[in-house]
Amino acid sequence: MKPLFYISLGYLTLTLLAGCNHSNQLYQANPLYTFGTIVEISIWGVPEPTARQAVNAITADFETMHRTWHAWQPSALTELNQALAKGEARVITDRSLLSLIEQSKFFAKRSEGLFNPAIGQLIALWGFQSDEVPAGPPPTSEELAKWVRLAPSMEDVVIDQNRVSSSNPAVQLDFGAIAKGYAVDLAIDKLRQLGIQNAIVNAGGNLKAMGKKGDRPWSIGIRHPSGQGVLAHVEVSGEESVITSGCYERFREYQGVRYCHILDPRTGKPVTDLVSVTVIACSGSLADAASTALMVAGKQEWQRVANQMGVKLVMVVDDTRKVSMTPEMEERVVLIW
Ligand code: ADP
Ligand code: MG
Repeated sequence: MKPLFYISLGYLTLTLLAGCNHSNQLYQANPLYTFGTIVEISIWGVPEPTARQAVNAITADFETMHRTWHAWQPSALTELNQALAKGEARVITDRSLLSLIEQSKFFAKRSEGLFNPAIGQLIALWGFQSDEVPAGPPPTSEELAKWVRLAPSMEDVVIDQNRVSSSNPAVQLDFGAIAKGYAVDLAIDKLRQLGIQNAIVNAGGNLKAMGKKGDRPWSIGIRHPSGQGVLAHVEVSGEESVITSGCYERFREYQGVRYCHILDPRTGKPVTDLVSVTVIACSGSLADAASTALMVAGKQEWQRVANQMGVKLVMVVDDTRKVSMTPEMEERVVLIW
């Protein structure tokens, strides 16, 4: 009897110890709605109270970013846009907003202007700024041609220390194509500062991971361009961002024609020949800017523009549902569709 008692006591002690030690557990926060999307955070390897505190800190950061960077509701960005439209300069005190502008200038140049966050007026012309996209006919060719002639671009935007101005009053900034990628970069940085080494932050299909899930890499599902189910899986370990741009979530429809929310700044029209692009890169803002730029580049040009932007891991789905990818992506991704 005695040995059995000792064994049971030993087992009980181990169980209790395991109960106190949460470091081998996954903490999955309740999805939160911010940034116009659902944000999911998973953390591995720290006690639950630490994970919970970290999630609270990130939630507060996301809400601040949303308020500061919003292109259409009163924010530091809408104040800047009003100044630029009047030909005035503005001093930007928010470091993250200034960084978004700097990064956007850089990525716009490397994408030959296909990624162009100066196209706020065009977005408004199409009605993609509002939660409820319009049901009526799309803008006329004349309206689009008029906007194309104004040609606002990030090259028009001048940054002098923290003073921002524009040489073209048609510039209206909207960081919808890069903000979520940059937000997940900042969220992962914050988690690291809080002593967390293994986590995923997913802002509506724009995600960044760091570390591992225990002794295994994180496994990420890439959404099917139909918006239903998963197209592929990819394993991620270390620090990497996986970002998908597509037409499945946001579009408007008129007389049976679907108009994608990603617009070609050269024509003012929505993209047509790719339906989704996934980019994996270390930087979330690069992956986000590139995924939008490659949607615009289309079937013929996506590989050239990807090279120019310095992204090697790319998968695209075209309008016939054909999947193509770079050789580097082929080695990483498992198609399940
Ligand atoms: P998602 O919003 O699905 O993450 P994107 O990262 O591609 O997709 O961002 C699309 C948003 O970016 C659009 O809703 C619009 O606000 C803006 N946008 C559309 N076309 C462009 C473009 N060519 N360059 C920069 N921003 C764009
Ligand atoms: Mg993008």
